[in-house]
Amino acid sequence: MSRESQLALIDGPAIDTDVVIVGAGPVGLFQVFELGLLGLKCHIVDSLPVAGGQCVELYPDKPIYDIPAIPVCTGRELIERLLEQIRPFDAGVHLGQEVTEVHRREDGRFHVVTSRGTHFRAGAIVIAGGVGSFQPRRLALDGAERHEGHTLHYRVRDPRIFENEDLLILGGGDSALDWTLNLVERARSVVLVHRRPEFRAAPASVARLFELHDAGQLDYLEGHVQQIIEVEGQLAGAAVRTPDGLTRRVSATQLLVFWGLHPRLGPIAEWGLELNRRALRVDAAKFETSAPGIFAVGDINDYPGKKKLILSGFHETALAAFAIQAHLEPGRKVYLQYTTTSPVMHRRLGIAGPDAEPAREPSRRSGTA
Ligand code: FAD
Repeated sequence: MSRESQLALIDGPAIDTDVVIVGAGPVGLFQVFELGLLGLKCHIVDSLPVAGGQCVELYPDKPIYDIPAIPVCTGRELIERLLEQIRPFDAGVHLGQEVTEVHRREDGRFHVVTSRGTHFRAGAIVIAGGVGSFQPRRLALDGAERHEGHTLHYRVRDPRIFENEDLLILGGGDSALDWTLNLVERARSVVLVHRRPEFRAAPASVARLFELHDAGQLDYLEGHVQQIIEVEGQLAGAAVRTPDGLTRRVSATQLLVFWGLHPRLGPIAEWGLELNRRALRVDAAKFETSAPGIFAVGDINDYPGKKKLILSGFHETALAAFAIQAHLEPGRKVYLQYTTTSPVMHRRLGIAGPDAEPAREPSRRSGTA
């Protein structure tokens, strides 16, 4: 990290806050809640245009069964509930921008800069960057870039654009099969091309694919896409080499590629923090990285016994919040309070009123206002 003296050129008007959270996945969002209960204000930044991290990006409609007290919810529902839960704390949310720079100032606070030029001055940073920013594995063929966003897609934002189109879908994982099965209803024709006979997708989806194939509702080819075919500059299909050594022309007006996403740790790797196999080393009591004042929670961190589960990430945010409070106000006595009985927490949650339950028990979380 560079020193304050090197900041002269970039230190413009900045948002002052207690904490900046890097990453608005499920764990970053819950960090807002845990900090909010302790009376700490934060801003949260994500490079994606929507909050939710892997839950929204990789499995929005899949059921999750291991969130305590929620027997089942989809990835998207979990994020909606978290957003609802953190609403009282009124955190600043900055989407579609990557945190690119982190500098320690001479006063011990941090200067944080995003790719869109948003500046923050914060007392602490929590990195909840998951496995990094997601980038789709792209089709490395001549002309592919020209069609990207028009007739070549790496994600589906609006299924309606595929109405009555001829679709060529590449991939054998959950996304490829889920969208094949979903879009077969809308499209004029669908051909799925996968490079091996084995699929990574759920067995039920694979079984359904072959049912539809046998019923003549879609086509499936094992093979490798070798070339994009264009007619007058427009996508017209692709040449696919099949295991029998032949090259077949598959006609298509829209090409969807689901070869998975590869995470890019990106700028986080350049902030001088101690790493272990692309994860940030933390201690399991405070979730502080090798740099005092910079904490890491969720999939991005590493400590003995680490499990990359949402549940584990939630636990980490609670301990990190206490440690952040101690970092921001060293020496201050921290009491524990329960959300059930603490009037201070009720006020912070925006539920305190004349009828609010008075606190009867000794406090459990930090309640010093
Ligand atoms: P992420 O969800 O990865 O979010 C991190 C966010 O940080 C991303 O949005 C990224 O864009 C952002 N980011 C990264 N770098 C920057 C930067 N420099 N600037 C700005 N933003 C940045 N776990 C379970 O517990 N139960 C399950 O059933 C379950 N099912 C799963 C199913 C699938 C298919 C997958 C892939 C994962 C599943 N998981 C499950 C794992 C779970 O999704 C992760 O543990 C969880 O998403 C981690 O949350 P996170 O907030 O740490 O990181």
